[in-house]
Amino acid sequence: MKKTLFSVVLILLAVFSALAQEQPTFDAFFVDETMRIDYYHVGDSKVEFIALDKIYRQGTWAGPVTSLLDNFNNGRYYVKIYDSATGRLIYSRGFDNYFGEYKTTNPAAEGIKRAYHESALIPYPRSKILFTMEVRQRDNTMNRFFSQEIDPASIEIDKGPLVTGVEVEKKFFSGNPHHKVDVAFIAEGYTVEEKALFHSDLDKVLHAFFNQEPYKSYKDSFNIYSLFISSQDSGVDEPRNGLFRNTPVESSFNALGLSRYLLTEGNKSLRNIAAHAPYDAVVIVVNSKRYGGGGIYNFYCVYTQDEIWQDYLFLHEFGHSFAGLGDEYYASAVAYNDFYPKGIEPTEPNITSLLDPQNLKWKGLLKPGTPVPTPWDKELYDKMKDNSAEKQAHLEQIKFKGLIGAFEGAGYASKGLYRPMADCIMFTKGNKPYCKVCEAHIVKVIEHYTKSE
Ligand SMILES: [Zn+2]
Repeated sequence: MKKTLFSVVLILLAVFSALAQEQPTFDAFFVDETMRIDYYHVGDSKVEFIALDKIYRQGTWAGPVTSLLDNFNNGRYYVKIYDSATGRLIYSRGFDNYFGEYKTTNPAAEGIKRAYHESALIPYPRSKILFTMEVRQRDNTMNRFFSQEIDPASIEIDKGPLVTGVEVEKKFFSGNPHHKVDVAFIAEGYTVEEKALFHSDLDKVLHAFFNQEPYKSYKDSFNIYSLFISSQDSGVDEPRNGLFRNTPVESSFNALGLSRYLLTEGNKSLRNIAAHAPYDAVVIVVNSKRYGGGGIYNFYCVYTQDEIWQDYLFLHEFGHSFAGLGDEYYASAVAYNDFYPKGIEPTEPNITSLLDPQNLKWKGLLKPGTPVPTPWDKELYDKMKDNSAEKQAHLEQIKFKGLIGAFEGAGYASKGLYRPMADCIMFTKGNKPYCKVCEAHIVKVIEHYTKSE
């Protein structure tokens, strides 16, 4: 009897957890508009908190209506929205942000607190919700550190007009934003005289984008918008060179003290401009010939018009910002690093610490007979000069080139982390494809946005 009761309880538990995983019905909880929740993310490496700024009601909902819960389990943070009345999880999205990068720096470790502005875009709720934020712990579990009830009927929610001076064009349109990946490209540092230059720069990168797999095969899954707003100055901030410019989204080189890292802290300006188009992903097109960029998962992508590397910069950074891919490159001098704690499996789909070689993360794509880990004469490669033709040639002549395996050296570490193929646009610089594992994951992300039932 006891046993039977126990089995019944187990079955009930299984049913409840299946219900909890089930995607909520859009119309039951939301109307077809966007709620933008602006807040400040404040803290250092030890403490962090959220302070709400302002809530907006803006435009149609661009995101998915069937996959309201994000089950990718990627990103340092998760926004989770619960229906207040029932406590049911009705929307979630994993992401990374500027603060998450700041908190790994030395100043943050020394206790210097910084505030970064962020926005959460969610479908507009019909009833009161609980807006919560979770942060990933070192062991990969998530910990809720903020929650606040929001009443969608509150008179304080801003329904005012959008900022003026933004010209929106549909560069490529394939259909209803609910079932497409909507990407907004924003002009940054282009003066009114440079409007034609912005469009020709964007056309060039879009050509590269739609010629790169898997975007090429999934072209009809995308809507592309250009948003032009004239900049007072041409270019962007380059603090180390003493150059500061007044530009629409306040982008700057030398982010977190790194010379080529280009990000913006002007999130509010960015979101005010982006609100002119329905978007799932936002890209900042920077009018600078200097090599630089950045891509933060489900946050934004930034890249410059470097004459040789412009397409590579965009495709690499978009791999981070759109699909949450990790960097596959490493420095041969760095054996291990703290970015990916030892003994913990990274959440990114294209990097593994290979804790269980029998159950490789991308096992399904592995050809039987490929050794794991996969030999690739790494010692020889590590002795060659960085970014040299010799290194590239090496990758093209090793035994397991073009095959999926587990190649040691990834995620900034020379040892203990593995990438799926010898080469990938997330590994070395150049106009080259994503590896097959990256490509397969990008397809999954596209399908997350385009599923219609
Ligand atoms: Zn890859």
